[in-house]
Amino acid sequence: MQDEIEVDAVRCFDAIVVGAGLAGVCAVYRLRQAGVSVRVLEAGGGVGGTWYHNRYPGARCDIESLDYSYSFSDELQQEWKWSERYAGQPEILRYINHVADRFDLRRDIQLNTRVVRARFDEAQERWMLFTDTGEVFSAKYAIMATGVLSVAQVPSMKGLEDYRGEWFHTGDWPEQGVDLAGKRVGVIGTGSSATQLIPIVAEQAEHLYVFQRTANYTMPAQNHPMKPEVEQEWKKHYPDRRKFAWASGFGHNQVTNHMSGKEMSAEARLAELENRWRLGGLYMMRAFKDILTDPEVNEIAAEFVREKIRATVQDRQTAEALCPRDLYIGTKRLCSGTNYYETFNRRNVTLVDVKNRAIERITADGILLEDGSEYEVDALIFATGFDAMTGAMNRINPIGRKGRALREAWAAGPQTYLGLCVAGFPNMFVITGPGSPSVFSNMVTSIEQHIEWTVACIEHMRAHGLSSIEPTVQAQEDWTRHVTEAAGKTLYAQSRNSWFHGANIPGKPVVFMPYVGGVGNYYQTITRVAQSGYEGFRFSSAPAVRNASYAGET
Ligand code: NAP
Repeated sequence: MQDEIEVDAVRCFDAIVVGAGLAGVCAVYRLRQAGVSVRVLEAGGGVGGTWYHNRYPGARCDIESLDYSYSFSDELQQEWKWSERYAGQPEILRYINHVADRFDLRRDIQLNTRVVRARFDEAQERWMLFTDTGEVFSAKYAIMATGVLSVAQVPSMKGLEDYRGEWFHTGDWPEQGVDLAGKRVGVIGTGSSATQLIPIVAEQAEHLYVFQRTANYTMPAQNHPMKPEVEQEWKKHYPDRRKFAWASGFGHNQVTNHMSGKEMSAEARLAELENRWRLGGLYMMRAFKDILTDPEVNEIAAEFVREKIRATVQDRQTAEALCPRDLYIGTKRLCSGTNYYETFNRRNVTLVDVKNRAIERITADGILLEDGSEYEVDALIFATGFDAMTGAMNRINPIGRKGRALREAWAAGPQTYLGLCVAGFPNMFVITGPGSPSVFSNMVTSIEQHIEWTVACIEHMRAHGLSSIEPTVQAQEDWTRHVTEAAGKTLYAQSRNSWFHGANIPGKPVVFMPYVGGVGNYYQTITRVAQSGYEGFRFSSAPAVRNASYAGET
């Protein structure tokens, strides 16, 4: 499609960054350092991305705050004080705002501006980006910091338009908050968001109905106020801590037990599991090196957690209903919460199974199940997840070379080279995109690795007079195969009913999207690719050369 645009109305930058979450804020800092003119376009009314929109009660990170933070400024990491082991959403949002102010980043960030489409202009070798404010931007580089869990998914349910109460989605929570005191509240979903929210809402609501389709494993976060000695130790060794995280499997400082669950005696295994339970949250997934590859080892950990649930929840039937079955632990993202299972001992909380009797429809007053039972609620909370990893990119649906749309290129599932770039979409960088560790890691580490790589790539192009970069189709196919093969060695390949596979979105291709080969290995790979002169990529320096060589490219 050709756009008729008044040339004067187009605002030109070297780079446009889409999104001002943790990735966008990091990008503007780094690009500015490199002397790249940049404008960040952000749909929301403030910086923060995920942490701006996910304001639901109890929202908290499940990576330790000392790890889940930028490493790019030693002064910043030394001076910022986290109040808790795991930071809550308000504190993380304050941190991102502090970074934006501290480094004077706001003057390059334009809020309340949603990029609605983008098109690569082959003649100019520039991206044109169009916003809902009617503005048009032109940039050499399009840096898509659009987030991987940023498109809230409200399942299509009959009757929602007739519902007389208020309803909300955790990922799009009103800025002014929601008063649930004394109300009958329904929560649909029992994933990470729900398991954090439920204990808090239970304290406010007159009655809380939790509509559970699939029971997931929820670890106690074991959150507590920051211990001064822990903070001091981290700050003393921050460079080493960061180095460790960047070279580690998951981009943080959680230490993995490198023994197989099968090599250990039953007593040693149990002690390890108890230790992991005490450490809390995601530490459970580091209990054995083969917890995600050996079904028997996985089952030992799963049964350990089921026993904890049975020991916590007094009502036997409720306890059994909360015990996950036919689900390898960790293959749906492990949840981390505080008092989650304990909450089901409250008299004002009812667990409603909607696996065996699905939700039939929303009524004017609440939820009707297919067996005819109805639950009246004054407020309804959808904790039903996101169109993960590809949702935000597919909504913008950038148009690349030869008028090809990203949705068409990704129709059978996302294809990228290194999770960073897409063949046919030159000069477009997808931060923590599908095919990179992304959601399988401490996101801040992965974000910083991608921004570092992208900015170095732009500097390389400038130094060598190069006009565009894109992966070859062959490199992209090889990488995508490698991503699939890496997942194939794990239990993820056998557990396809998760958002990691896109299975939560009707019609979305069921393909495992993140790269499970490990953050450290991945970082080595992308560094090696850059150092080898960008193996698997091709550059152009002049339009004539580019047009001649593109036809039939593989
Ligand atoms: P989620 O993990 O996708 O969970 C969605 C829940 O809604 C699931 O229990 C799902 O059931 C249920 N659901 C969806 N549609 C339904 C329907 N039509 N009827 C009944 N139930 C339905 O979403 P999330 O909890 O928002 O978490 C998404 C991801 O965000 C997490 O996995 C994590 O990576 C991240 N996150 C992290 C934190 C943290 O750092 N602590 C907090 C929140 C979120 P099924 O399983 O049966 O589909």
